[in-house]
Amino acid sequence: MSLPRRPAAQVSIGPIRVGGGAPIVVQSMTNTDTADVEGTARQVQALARAGSELVRVTVNTSEAAAAVAPIRAWLDRAGVAVPLIGDFHFNGHKLLREHPECAAALGKYRINPGNVGRGAKRDPQFAEMIEIACRYGKPVRIGVNWGSLDSDLLTRLMDENSALPEPLEAQAVMRNAVVLSALTSAQRAEQLGLAHDRIILSAKVSGVQDLIAIYRDLAARCDYPLHLGLTEAGMGSKGIVASTAGMAVLLQEGIGDTIRVSLTPEPGGDRTQEVIVAQEILQTMGLRAFTPLVVACPGCGRTTSTFFQELALKIQSHIRARMPQWRRDYAGVEEMTVAVMGCVVNGPGESKHANLGISLPGTGERPVAPVYEDGEKTVTLKGERIAEEFQEIVERYVARRYARLAPPGGGA
Ligand code: SF4
Repeated sequence: MSLPRRPAAQVSIGPIRVGGGAPIVVQSMTNTDTADVEGTARQVQALARAGSELVRVTVNTSEAAAAVAPIRAWLDRAGVAVPLIGDFHFNGHKLLREHPECAAALGKYRINPGNVGRGAKRDPQFAEMIEIACRYGKPVRIGVNWGSLDSDLLTRLMDENSALPEPLEAQAVMRNAVVLSALTSAQRAEQLGLAHDRIILSAKVSGVQDLIAIYRDLAARCDYPLHLGLTEAGMGSKGIVASTAGMAVLLQEGIGDTIRVSLTPEPGGDRTQEVIVAQEILQTMGLRAFTPLVVACPGCGRTTSTFFQELALKIQSHIRARMPQWRRDYAGVEEMTVAVMGCVVNGPGESKHANLGISLPGTGERPVAPVYEDGEKTVTLKGERIAEEFQEIVERYVARRYARLAPPGGGA
């Protein structure tokens, strides 16, 4: 199944294509101090390994700007080609001007039109950033955020609205202001010489209904590729649910060319979780495949123990750990589905629909676990080593089912 996508111009960021029919790109952002070269480079590497195709870093101080080229060099030495995006606010014009090696090392600049400068400083500072992007041949994301919306624009629209015979609600005016800020900033960037196919737009808000309304409006009014994301999504399941609820509606309508899930990590939590969630959103919607899906039943009173939960977790972890090598050696393995089910009620049926499935014994059932491969029962496992034996079956299935890619340069 492939959903129709909104036609959009295509923007190139190094080797990555955004829009114009390219696969929807997953991106993420570091939370290290960018001035810490090694710490930031290691986090970028981890995010890229998890599957982030673009990684944004904060560039907020002279020290951070000075660290960008060394971070790029560190990543190149480590064989990590992921493009870096510089996130600029307030002083981006100055940092890009004073650190040409930073301007050159970044793959894209993110400019927030609400945070470019106040009053008379705003236009020349915005112009300077666009001129630097043109000079270095870099694309730009015009990234509006309602938390830092251009206050002059919002005030003007509010004043105009209150003069109307039937004024709109304040929320509708705010949504208009977000869209208008993105569109007029993009138009101004083009007037300053930035090519149409060097511009990506985003308009981040923290409410799901606002996000959907704003992106529908933006999608209808331009053909720039759109970066989707809910800002300040929150922690844990709240952040995941809110991001998924908003983005899924838009993605289903063909809106969105690149996505980020902005999760607040728990203290000591793993930053790469936001990459995995973004991939899972795209994969469960059938828009892209990244890693084999493990389908597991939720368990109920018929499950005899937590054994099947442990097996589902074990298989999922095994697949994630093996994916870097599988991806290199086997074609199409990311589309595999593995069902791990708790009893015979839905176990055999779900197992038959998956590439590989195992149905564990529920309460009162014979202590055996039938395994299905491509819809056919091939073996029944029993005893203490069910988990290990099923893992071996997964390995054998992958090696047999997914053609080994020819090594670079061929060879007999
Ligand atoms: S497959 Fe069996 S154990 Fe799993 S939820 Fe359904 S009835 Fe419960």
